[in-house]
Amino acid sequence: MSRAAVVSRRQFLALGWLPLLRPRHIGLAGARFRILRNGRSKRRYLRIHGDEETARQVLERHMETHEGIAYVVESRTRLVVVQSLKLDPNRMFSRVGAEANLWQLNPDAAPERVRSALRVLDSGRENLVRALTPPKGGLTIALHNNSTGYSVADEVPISDRTSLRQPGNPHAFFLCTDPRDFDVLKTSPYNVVLQQHGPKQDDGSLSRLAAARGFRYVNLEVAAGQAERQREMLNWVEWYVT
Ligand SMILES: [Zn+2]
Repeated sequence: MSRAAVVSRRQFLALGWLPLLRPRHIGLAGARFRILRNGRSKRRYLRIHGDEETARQVLERHMETHEGIAYVVESRTRLVVVQSLKLDPNRMFSRVGAEANLWQLNPDAAPERVRSALRVLDSGRENLVRALTPPKGGLTIALHNNSTGYSVADEVPISDRTSLRQPGNPHAFFLCTDPRDFDVLKTSPYNVVLQQHGPKQDDGSLSRLAAARGFRYVNLEVAAGQAERQREMLNWVEWYVT
């Protein structure tokens, strides 16, 4: 290798650490995420549904004062498109979950198109999963909003443990995958469920993947529009779940 080549390789390695040259987006199929970085921490954050505007606002503001890496989906709709088929991005984390979701949302699709969409997902899934998996000892927090019916009552029957301190407020709750995090979260004034093993059926959600791979994951759900409540619950996690 010539001296010039050595220098340029050194320069390249040095430049690689410049924040401006780090990727600012990551994607899988039609789901494209903006990457927000702040300092160095083992926290990872995710907002995966494009129609959950409260979660976006809360997370973006949170990242101004908390360290970690956040992934914010850019789409404005809940569903994304892969090979011109509709897909819920929180069902793409396993092939079996994605396939079920593609058929559910596109019942008239040609089988070849579904297979082709699954190939696209298979080829890029691990890259996104690697980004969303926290470093050892770290924690991934996903922010969601619900608007139609969905509440902690839907999760209780498929959970390993539950603590419902606010039964009158079922739309606001934590869902976690690590029993040690559950032990801390259950001391909060909020609703919390533990899904250490996840639902029996693999639905392709990130919580199911976290349970299967054994990484720490907390899902923070509140009703759409309840920004103050979501901010308060997120701050509770930051303060007490270490
Ligand atoms: Zn959601």
